[in-house]
Amino acid sequence: MTGRASDDYREIREAVRALCAEFPPEYHRKVDAERGYPEAFVDALARAGWLAALIPEEYGGAGLGLAEASVIMEEINRSGGNSGACHGQMYNMGTLVRHGSPEQKRRYLPAIASGELRLQSMGVTEPTSGTDTTSLKTTAVRRGDRYVVNGQKVWISRVLHSDLMILLARTTPLAEVAKKSEGLSIFIVDLREAFGRGLEARPIANMVNHETAELFFDDLEIPAENLIGEEGKGFRYILDGLNAERTLIAAECIGDGYWFVDKVTAYAKERVVFGRPIGQNQGVQFPIAESYIEVEAANLMRFEACRLFDAGLPCGAQANMAKYLAAKASWEAANACIQFHGGFGFAHEYDVERKFRETRLYQVAPISTNLILAYVAEHVLGLPRSF
Ligand SMILES: Cc1cc2nc3c(=O)[nH]c(=O)nc-3n(C[C@H](O)[C@H](O)[C@H](O)COP(=O)(O)OP(=O)(O)OC[C@H]3O[C@@H](n4cnc5c(N)ncnc54)[C@H](O)[C@@H]3O)c2cc1C
Repeated sequence: MTGRASDDYREIREAVRALCAEFPPEYHRKVDAERGYPEAFVDALARAGWLAALIPEEYGGAGLGLAEASVIMEEINRSGGNSGACHGQMYNMGTLVRHGSPEQKRRYLPAIASGELRLQSMGVTEPTSGTDTTSLKTTAVRRGDRYVVNGQKVWISRVLHSDLMILLARTTPLAEVAKKSEGLSIFIVDLREAFGRGLEARPIANMVNHETAELFFDDLEIPAENLIGEEGKGFRYILDGLNAERTLIAAECIGDGYWFVDKVTAYAKERVVFGRPIGQNQGVQFPIAESYIEVEAANLMRFEACRLFDAGLPCGAQANMAKYLAAKASWEAANACIQFHGGFGFAHEYDVERKFRETRLYQVAPISTNLILAYVAEHVLGLPRSF
């Protein structure tokens, strides 16, 4: 198996690999073909405690760092699985850990850590505002001991396989705040109570087998005690969680990247055309070698982001750059892999086309490549803000 990082975090890698081995390619292929949700796989990961890596030990989690958490995500993707089905459970609770009240933490975190409750969803994106998050239109208006929510979200992942969702909504009208980023708040929504009582979901069929939906809020009532942190500071709280999210997604792409490189390398050694293995041709070797180099480089940036994050140091630039490099590297590796499988790359049974579709998402979500470039231009290089 390729990759220098294979020697780090060996215990975690071996344990996650052993669990993933119980879910062979046929399992993921079948779930993909049926457009199903990998319930058994996600349950097994949760029961084994892997998805609670970032929950502090006092709340029943493993209390591990981002580096270890990222290795878990990487190994899932490297095994041929797709962390997209469950990665929300890994990082969404970070918002609760950092900004939740002691009562909220006691109420939710132990049940999330044990796998009894799923906090897989975060509702931020809206159809009319998109990347311009602070222009979002969904409102939460305080009425007595409740907030009443109205509006719409789009692309909200795993919402039909989650018990809880973190919701970002505007609590103070745009006209009454000094800065657009003010007046937004986050809430914990108990989906089991919300569906059918002011919240409706409409699943979006999409290129990947990724459960995601449009959400419609029509006077949904949320108990006021479900507000996380202070009213009006929600956007900052969401931003606090993004570095972890980006680094974890980078790790998933790195897992994909190694999967593609290993898969195509093995195939290029075996497939004989014109009387020799196709991998003997430089035209085949070079794109594979190039992909490997890029995945390795992305891997270093991922661990640098983890190192800074785990030391409590600023890591916005590194987390964004890791996500950028990793998503690009896994996509290049995916292209080489499908190309050198020839026609067989398109056959479901090789899993290449499935992984190819899955890894493509990460240049758009959860943050698009252009927005990362804009971040680096503005915050690292000091160029004028472009939007
Ligand atoms: C499968 C899937 C799952 C998702 N899951 C979730 C989820 O769970 N929760 C959630 O809240 N969201 C989720 N999203 C939404 C995702 O985060 C957004 O799709 C993404 O951030 C891009 O926003 P948009 O689709 O509105 O694109 P837009 O904002 O409309 O942008 C379209 C394109 O224009 C580019 N662009 C826009 N403005 C600029 C600019 N100023 N400079 C240069 N380029 C620009 C963007 O980079 C992008 O490529 C998901 C999306 C997908 C596809």
